[in-house]
Order: sequence, then structure tokens, then C-alpha cells
Amino acid sequence: MTLDMDNVEVFDAGEKGRGLRTTKDLWAGEVVFAEPSFAAVVFDSLSQQVCHSCFRRQANLHRCAQCKFAHYCDRTCQTACWDEHKQECAAIKKYEKAPNENVRLTARVLWRIQKDTGIVSDGQLTSVDQLEDHVADMLAEDFKELKIDMQNFLDYCPKTRHGKEYISHIFGIIKCNGFTLSDQRGLQAVGVGLFPNLCLVNHDCWPNCTVILNHGNQSTLNAAYHSKRRIELRALSKISENEELTVGYVDFLNVSTDRQRALKHQYHFDCTCKSCSEHLKDDLKMAVKETDGNKPSDQLVKEVQEFSLECLAKVEAARTAGDFHEVVKLCRECLDKQEPVFGKTHLYHLRMLSTASEVLSYLQFFSEAAEYAGRLVEGYMKLYHPNNAHLGMATMRAGVTHWHAGLIKVGHEMICKAYAILMVTHGPNHPITKDLESMRMQTEMELRMFKQNEHVYHSMREAALQNKPMAEASSVEDNIKALSHKLL
Ligand SMILES: [Zn+2]
Ligand SMILES: [Zn+2]
Ligand SMILES: [Zn+2]
Repeated sequence: MTLDMDNVEVFDAGEKGRGLRTTKDLWAGEVVFAEPSFAAVVFDSLSQQVCHSCFRRQANLHRCAQCKFAHYCDRTCQTACWDEHKQECAAIKKYEKAPNENVRLTARVLWRIQKDTGIVSDGQLTSVDQLEDHVADMLAEDFKELKIDMQNFLDYCPKTRHGKEYISHIFGIIKCNGFTLSDQRGLQAVGVGLFPNLCLVNHDCWPNCTVILNHGNQSTLNAAYHSKRRIELRALSKISENEELTVGYVDFLNVSTDRQRALKHQYHFDCTCKSCSEHLKDDLKMAVKETDGNKPSDQLVKEVQEFSLECLAKVEAARTAGDFHEVVKLCRECLDKQEPVFGKTHLYHLRMLSTASEVLSYLQFFSEAAEYAGRLVEGYMKLYHPNNAHLGMATMRAGVTHWHAGLIKVGHEMICKAYAILMVTHGPNHPITKDLESMRMQTEMELRMFKQNEHVYHSMREAALQNKPMAEASSVEDNIKALSHKLL
């Protein structure tokens, strides 16, 4: 298979080791390169809910009759990845259960290496076993885990021709280079995969690229035409020829010392990027409220910070227990406490707003949810790169919440903004962008109707909401759609 790597070249990035740089000018939203996974597996916890071939979350998956472990959308998906599953299927059958995701991925990587021996595929900038493993830098607890995984691997693949050292090298590579794969809507992490070329892209807390998983087209009946599960590296803004390409390994919404600690722990390097060395935006992330030049006392700020952290933990517990009314109660209480003390971009405040808007929207308290979602996006806009994918997704959710709350004008504006960001971060063919596109057209039509006759729009919306049980919220939009045809 040929990979198109014309836009990039490997170079010596000094202390960071190898890196990738551009060979020509690139524009925002341009695909720098696309790469299929070398190997990938679905997480243990989701092995029955996610297709092992296309990684879509789907109800009623079909089970592999042989190993009874792998699940697929249909026969097409199963056929598409039989090559990847063949040896795994036999091993699981023999072992009589499936080992954990680390062991399964390591086995898949090793089978693939064995199969590919001697074949140098075009566009592969590095071989898998040339990647860094950082086994020597591992913490004691991680090393212990590695040893257990090693033992399980040897039981699972007793006939492996690889030595123990080489196998632990692969385990190490996966640990610090594995890329988390999300479902088709980008809502949930569903698996982990290895993309060797992507591993050459170094980290920067304020990166010039973003990575997105694109499941592509799986709709054709012939498996041979299925597009491979692949990542796309996309430019976030203009990148000049010879500039280093970077992605963010950790979320920018942490203060620099926390990001540095996380990077050191998982990826074993000290981040010296501009954002870290100059502590950029740390002040905003810890901002306190200033009224007429007066700031709250250090003591009070400390108290509210501690209260917020405790509250965030309680919220998480209530959420896991499914007690959403408790979540809402805790969020409201905490937001009240934060309001006179924290600035609008304080991280703990934003985390609270994020949970509150999400859960309130789930409970269909759309007006309150919309208010919080709007404040969340305002905060994100001051912190994130204007084309950050998290900002795009938050703006999309805020837009939908406003729309559901009947605030059609703001809702439509936000959906348009989100669409513009996702065209860069996800591209026009991604399923989320396609969803957004149809929402953009729908809200545009409703907005036109609203402008023509506000009263009619509202009364019709009210009627639609009253006539239909809330569970069929989407049919409200259908009703409006049907009516708008008559009006326009
Ligand atoms: Zn599938
Ligand atoms: Zn099987
Ligand atoms: Zn940094």
C-alpha cells in the first residue's frame, strides 16, 4: 500500500529526537497526511458494543462464531478485517478467553511485523520497532503491570518466535505511542491503535496540527471498497515550508506545571514549548474576579478552590451512580460559590459549567443548560486556539442546546461557528461535520421563519412541544420543518 507522505519529511529535532516537518506551505484544514492503523483493538470494556472492524458504536452487533469474542456490524465488516483477526481468533479460541487490550494489541502488532517482514511499504517513514519504548524510565508500578502483561502474552501466544526483550520493547512502544480511538461521533474513547508515522510528530502545548480519526465510508457492500480506519493529521492554521509539525498530547486546559507533569509521566520528556516556558494563559486559567479593582482574599480563593475540587469529585460519583438530579444540585451550589470569586476563565469554573450544561441538557432543562453552555464557550474562546477541536465540539453542543431552548438566533450562529471550526479539524467528510451541516440548514430555515413571524414560530414550537412526548424531541424539529414548508 502506498501512503502519500509528500507533504512531510523526517528531520533531527535536536533534544526531542526525530521530528516531522513540512516540505511545502500548508493551509488551515489541509490534510498533512492520512495513515491507516498499523494495528488497533477495541477496549476490553466495550468489546461487545463496538465493531472490531470499523470501530463504530452500534446496537445488535454480530459475534464471531469462532472465538465468540470479536463483534461486527455485519459480514462486510467482518470480512474487511479477517486478515487482522485470523491469528487472534485462533489464539483466543485456544486460550479460551480474550486477554486484556494491551496484550491483544501487542499480539496484533507482532503478527503484523512478522507478516510484513521483507516488505518495505512506500510512505512508511519509520518501522514500528524503531519507535521509542521508554521501558527504562518506567515507574515501578507500570513496570509491574508490564511484567504481568508479559506473562499473559506468553500464555496467549506460547509459540511466539520473538524474545522476551523484543516483546517488552513492543509493550513499551504501545504504552507511550498508542493513540486513543473514538467512536464515529467523537463522543467516547473506544479503543487504541498504533500509527507509526503519526508517532514521529512531536508534542507542543500550542500545536499547529490536530489528529482526527476518520472512519470513512463503510457503506459499500463489497469489503474491498471499504475505506480503512485511518487518522488524518490536519493543519490548524497556515504552516510554512520547513516548519516543524506538532500535535498536543495533552489538553491545553491545564496549567503549564500540570501539563508538564502529565507529559513527563506518560511520555517521559520535559516540555519546553513556548506556552510552558512562558506560562502562557496560566493567569487566565486561575483568574479571580475583580470588582472595582478589588480582588477576593487569597484565603477565600483557596477555600473556593478546595470546595470546587471536592465538589467535582462528588459530581463524578453522583454521575457514575446515575443520580443526575444530585449532579445538578451539586453543580448549582458550586457555581453559586464560584460566581463572586473566580474569573470567567478559571479552569474549575469551566469544568463545572461543562458538567452542568451537559447534564441539564440531558434532563431537558434547555434554558439553564444553554446559559451555562454559552458561558463555557466564551471561556474556551479565550483559552483555546481558535481552531481547537474541543472548542468546536463545545460550540456545537452549545448551539444545539440553544436551539432546543428555542433560542434560534444564537443557536444558529453557534452551529455556524462550530461548522467553520470542524471544517478545519474534522474536514467535510467526517460524520460529525455532516451532522452539523444538516443542523445548519435546518436552523437557517427555522431562523428565516422566526424572522418572518416570531409569534407564529413560537406558538407553533409550543404546540409541537406539547403535542409530542419529550422523548421524541427530534420530531419537534420535524413538525417545525413540515410547517415551515407551508409558511415559506
Ligand atoms: Zn463495523
Ligand atoms: Zn474470531
Ligand atoms: Zn508545553
